[in-house]
Amino acid sequence: MTSLTQADEAGFFGAHGGRFLPPHLEAPIAEVAAAYAEAKDDPAFLAEYEALLADYVGRPSPLFLAKNLSAELGGAKIYLKREDLNHTGAHKINHTLGEVLLAKRMGKKKVIAETGAGQHGVALATAAALLGLECEIHMGAIDIAKQHPNVVRMRLLGATVVSVEDGGRCLKDAVDSAFGVWAADFGETMFAIGSVVGPDPFPTMVRDFQSVVGREARRQVMEKEGKLPTAIVAAVGGGSNAMGLFQAFLEDADVAIYGVEPSGRSLDAPGEHAATMTLGTPGVIHGMQTIVLQDEAGEPWPVHSIASGMDYPGVGPQHAHLKDVGRANYVTASDAESLEAFQVLCRTEGIIPAIESSHAVAYAMKLAPTLTSDDVIIVNLSGRGDKDIDFVAEQLGME
Ligand SMILES: *Cc1c(COP(=O)(O)O)cnc(C)c1O
Repeated sequence: MTSLTQADEAGFFGAHGGRFLPPHLEAPIAEVAAAYAEAKDDPAFLAEYEALLADYVGRPSPLFLAKNLSAELGGAKIYLKREDLNHTGAHKINHTLGEVLLAKRMGKKKVIAETGAGQHGVALATAAALLGLECEIHMGAIDIAKQHPNVVRMRLLGATVVSVEDGGRCLKDAVDSAFGVWAADFGETMFAIGSVVGPDPFPTMVRDFQSVVGREARRQVMEKEGKLPTAIVAAVGGGSNAMGLFQAFLEDADVAIYGVEPSGRSLDAPGEHAATMTLGTPGVIHGMQTIVLQDEAGEPWPVHSIASGMDYPGVGPQHAHLKDVGRANYVTASDAESLEAFQVLCRTEGIIPAIESSHAVAYAMKLAPTLTSDDVIIVNLSGRGDKDIDFVAEQLGME
């Protein structure tokens, strides 16, 4: 049975999810599904994972009352869930540690993944270094040239970075390349996906590993405010940091839920945004049924966002379901609004947010003044913005 919180036996959240795979990937995916089904209820596996979250990642991350920002905006109190304070500076480490622990439990020697901007690759290389597995990251040749610091980080962490020269030499080609290598060698390797996307069980597994964010936030807001928040807000690329926060609040009907997608430069033309929920249609991408930005032939549109971690033409299937049933609202923030929110948070709170997270901040800045001082908003600050400062300086024409 499908519910707000769990997929059905076949991995569907309502109409979305499932496994849409070429035959050569069926066996490798079935193996991961069977291994995860056992691991997720094994107290020893969970204890090892939780110990790493505490001592390696630095959890729980604080829930911080942004007093200055709240005062400047007027209206609701804004709290920031500080995933930017995690080791490696973002939420992605929460799921890469889980995935590498699972690979190790399965007796694999190596984890393999695609990466676009390199953030998933760095988080996975980190977890693999810690846990003693090899790591192979496939990256489009164009992305390698654009993301030099992350390529250096991955190599320092001991990963092999494979330059993908096929097709458009970007993320989509890297996905195809990584899946191809995995299918040929799944005896020794496990694929470790970067968000709540892909064939079942990945959307559920990655969501489970990220759900620590929402469980902590729920407990922390009860301690600080004695009540649940009026609203929770998170940026949505593939949707992992958002699902991580949302999962613990889905059954609290009074908590309003907002996922914020990038409307980029404009919503008027393909290639100018990555507003999948706003303008997408049902389709299949990367092994799952979901909502996709696509043309009539089912080819994914080119996408754009100022935040490289958010330019994905699909979205996790649980989000698509939450939209279908009206449990979550999907809204947008533009490049310009996010750049503005980035600067406001720097100035008011002394926190440099990731440009991805700045999309959530931008929407919270619109929402807070429409509420009262009795209302509480929790924003998932999914990552820190040190990685973005050169780009932001260029955008702002700073010397
Ligand atoms: C990758 C990334 C995102 C977008 O990915 P989701 O799976 O949607 O969370 C958001 N924020 C940061 C800091 C990221 O690195």
